[in-house]
Amino acid sequence: MALTLDQLNQASLDDATLMLAGLYEHSPWIARAALAGRPFGSLAQLKHAMVQVLASAGVESQLALIRAHPELAGKAMVSKSLTAESTNEQSKAGLTHCTPDEFEKIQSLNAAYNARFGFPFILAVRGPRGTGLSKAEIIATFARRLHGHPDFERQECIRNIHRIAEIRLNDLFGFTPELGNRVWDWQEALAQHADAGYAEQGQLTVTYLTDAHRACAQRISMDMLQAGCDTVHIDAVGNVVGRYKKESDLRNTDEGQGPVSSRTLLTGSHYDTVRNGGKYDGRLGIYVPLACVQALSSAGKRLPFDLEIVAFAEEEGQRYKATFLGSGALTGDFNPAWLDQVDADGISMRAAMQHAGLSVDDIPSLKRNANDYQGFVEVHIEQGPVLNELDIPLGIVTSINASVRYVGEVLGMASHAGTTPMGRRRDAAAAVAELILYVEQRAAQDSDLVGTVGMLQVPNGSINVVPGRCQFSLDLRAPNDAQRDRLADDVVQAARAICERRRTHLDLAETMRVSAAPSAPAWQARWESAVQALGVPLHRMPSGAGHDAMKLHETMPQAMLFVRGQNSGISHNPLESTTSDDMQLAVDAFMHLLNGLAQTTAA
Ligand SMILES: [Zn+2]
Repeated sequence: MALTLDQLNQASLDDATLMLAGLYEHSPWIARAALAGRPFGSLAQLKHAMVQVLASAGVESQLALIRAHPELAGKAMVSKSLTAESTNEQSKAGLTHCTPDEFEKIQSLNAAYNARFGFPFILAVRGPRGTGLSKAEIIATFARRLHGHPDFERQECIRNIHRIAEIRLNDLFGFTPELGNRVWDWQEALAQHADAGYAEQGQLTVTYLTDAHRACAQRISMDMLQAGCDTVHIDAVGNVVGRYKKESDLRNTDEGQGPVSSRTLLTGSHYDTVRNGGKYDGRLGIYVPLACVQALSSAGKRLPFDLEIVAFAEEEGQRYKATFLGSGALTGDFNPAWLDQVDADGISMRAAMQHAGLSVDDIPSLKRNANDYQGFVEVHIEQGPVLNELDIPLGIVTSINASVRYVGEVLGMASHAGTTPMGRRRDAAAAVAELILYVEQRAAQDSDLVGTVGMLQVPNGSINVVPGRCQFSLDLRAPNDAQRDRLADDVVQAARAICERRRTHLDLAETMRVSAAPSAPAWQARWESAVQALGVPLHRMPSGAGHDAMKLHETMPQAMLFVRGQNSGISHNPLESTTSDDMQLAVDAFMHLLNGLAQTTAA
């Protein structure tokens, strides 16, 4: 019999501790301490209470917990002395049926890991979907983490222990994240399509209007129809547009006539990817709202407004230099000059669009009339390490960062590395190195600023020549324009001062300046109340990366919701990952936002 939260909330402390005894390996004290926070309104709230208990228990207790775990496919498994929970997990991942080669490989990894860190390697082998990682994935993760920093590995083990506890808790309460699993599966299926040249290597790459890109559009159209969207079409730039209509709209499709609250809610994100990217960047923001449509439609429910989900065709600027092409078309920012851009094979965007059967002449008509819409919301995987480190599943975006970019070159004097005394050098690379350290230090003065020198070159440099030239890039971002401008002013001033003192010459050219897109307060508040209703702690954060919401921001109020990524939140990378439990929470939050809007809408 599955437990219920009511039973847990009403039981004596001893009984409740017993109910949760198996969650943390040989460590019932964690659940016991968390039970002080009863009553719990949701499993998510209980999970977070346990996360907090362990976080405040100190490093020694954390290490003791890690050491209470068996090795993967280790002696305890062979001698059948694992806990029932561990046996179930290790067998689901196929570890109880290793070939001799796999078994030997895992044993040698176990030994090396233990020797390096002094504790066993912990991995939630049931994985992000709960159904079990493949042995190949387990071995690859093991080999990768063997090279981690000891502090990081301790924390990564703890995160995996919490994930193990989450799955055990789901089992205990008979809870399945049905819609989260649906979203996970949709994205897995979509990731089967990849551009030629990458597909063969098992890499996910989907760039604008390739065969794989068009196959993705077809699959998304089909998914939208099957989930219950009333109309689905592919527009003139390749966006897939699905609409779940309000009751009255099924007969009458007039737009923009009623009060604001009965106007269409716009949502969505992009389905193109970077080269060798992840499965969730962009796509999560298409499928989370689609899961809501599926839930509404299967329950026969309608909202008092239309929900329009747009799967944007292009955001990443990989095949052509134009970015935000999909969302830009909705704001009337499609630049006709882009049509003449050519890709690496010399194919113009115009030709690619004609080949895809898109009607270039219809692009201007894609521009949305802001009066037809309440606003735009976007769900996106965080693409950073913050939520993962805090062990919080959802994040509220306060603003999409303002940014400014420069390319620079410092000219010094190339001279003999052996004969030029230190005091007489005009070393261009050393000047840039000093600037990099300044950027690092200046940006760190405020936790929400970031500054990066991502490109650095000494053209024609030699091992025995003092660098005479050094080229570099500079990327500065801040949550608002004023903060960004102060950061940029300080950095430019420092660059000049450094070059002056070092008797070098500085050329600096600004290449891009983008304004911040602060979330509309009312919409941010809607996400906040949704997240709080789930019992998930509230964490507000700026978005360091640009998103489609930035484009829509130009014409309507917008706010974003972030979903925690696994593997330190790595993104634009095949290791990008998130769990179906976190996806379920995102669906629940989205549903809460829809229901909240529905309640305030004049019928
Ligand atoms: Zn994205």
